[in-house]
Amino acid sequence: MSEGPTVVIVGAGIAGLALALALAERGIASHLLERATRLEEVGAGLQLSPNATRVLAGLGLGPGLDAVGVRPAAIAIRDAAAGREIVRLPLGPAFEAAHGAPYVVVHRGDLQALLLDAVARRPEITLSLGAVVDRVEDGADAVAVEATIAGARRRLVADVLVGADGVWSRVRGDVLRAGGAVYSGRTAWRATLPVEALPAGGDFGSVTGLWLGAKAHLVHYPIRAGRAFNIVAAVDDTWADERWNVVGDRDDLIRHFADWPADVRRLLELPETWRKWALCAAPPTAPWVRGRIALIGDAQHGMLPFVAQGGAMAIEDAAVLARRLADTGAPVADRLAAYADDRRRRVADVVATARRNATVYHLAGLPALARNAAMRLMGPKRLLGGMEWIYGWRDAA
Ligand SMILES: Cc1cc2nc3c(=O)[nH]c(=O)nc-3n(C[C@H](O)[C@H](O)[C@H](O)COP(=O)(O)OP(=O)(O)OC[C@H]3O[C@@H](n4cnc5c(N)ncnc54)[C@H](O)[C@@H]3O)c2cc1C
Repeated sequence: MSEGPTVVIVGAGIAGLALALALAERGIASHLLERATRLEEVGAGLQLSPNATRVLAGLGLGPGLDAVGVRPAAIAIRDAAAGREIVRLPLGPAFEAAHGAPYVVVHRGDLQALLLDAVARRPEITLSLGAVVDRVEDGADAVAVEATIAGARRRLVADVLVGADGVWSRVRGDVLRAGGAVYSGRTAWRATLPVEALPAGGDFGSVTGLWLGAKAHLVHYPIRAGRAFNIVAAVDDTWADERWNVVGDRDDLIRHFADWPADVRRLLELPETWRKWALCAAPPTAPWVRGRIALIGDAQHGMLPFVAQGGAMAIEDAAVLARRLADTGAPVADRLAAYADDRRRRVADVVATARRNATVYHLAGLPALARNAAMRLMGPKRLLGGMEWIYGWRDAA
């Protein structure tokens, strides 16, 4: 093993697991502390653009991702008021060849299971489930973490503590005293269906569909190697709740879409169960790093999912933090500062794009017509070109 620092990671979600793997690739040992006693298949779809799948492929997870995900042929952007397509952004072979990595849609539980399976095969990684962090002491030479793991008190001493504990992060809130999550005034409803339940015809199984409407939008795509179908409906709302798994009233959802095209309403009527979660963001003032403590993923920058980059930014963070921590020539504080410098600007730009899309996606009337006309005028090439700063990202060697 190299001379890298020891790292305690709080949270074994997408960010924490990816970080542990990226560190192990560089010979750095880590201990993951996950609050849940079992990592169940919670959640629904995640979209992973090439900036993220490139990192996962570098961790040896490309074939595994292909086995559980789907490579959509295009993103079909549609206008709910007119019930027709505005523009179609191709993600097929030419897009993949240009990026050297695919766009993949996947069930969050499948991605987490894939990462967990890889973690279990790495001797450098210890994973403790049912772990509650009780106290953190950030000292000049080390960080000490007192935790209750499966009922027993433990004291772990490491060079670095990483908060990868999601948008409701306790490392950010309780340890760094940097604020709680901020509700966005929007709710996401999500459901999954077996593909057999879908109406015949159409391109449901092969594209990501993005429908734009007044005060709401809808995203759907296939997951689970094409065996299942994921639908997410985002609506302007005032409901606030911390849970991911609240069962929503389907009639309540359908009421939001009463004026939408009949095909869309029929689609929304298909799932037996809809779950909903109140969309929220990390506070904009959340630090990246303080002392020997760093934040990654949603803990630092939980964002609106309107540019489909929450998971991707978490994966990028993991790659960059592992690279910086492996730089044994610099003191740990400098390595962490370099990680923050690498990430701050890029993530702020992505968060701002998501916020802008939240307005643009939910326009109505004349502004919506102007948006659609502008998208048609730009066409697929320029629209995809406008995303290149996100999709074309590559970590430094
Ligand atoms: C249950 C769940 C379901 C989700 N479903 C979707 C979805 O359907 N679609 C979507 O786009 N995004 C979903 N997300 C969010 C998405 O996974 C993240 O935006 C993205 O992947 C960034 O990941 P992250 O690892 O930073 O945070 P998360 O994925 O939120 O992972 C955080 C991890 O930290 C653990 N944790 C939290 N607090 C503590 C603590 N105090 N101590 C120890 N561990 C702790 C959590 O149990 C979790 O495993 C979901 C997240 C969760 C937790």
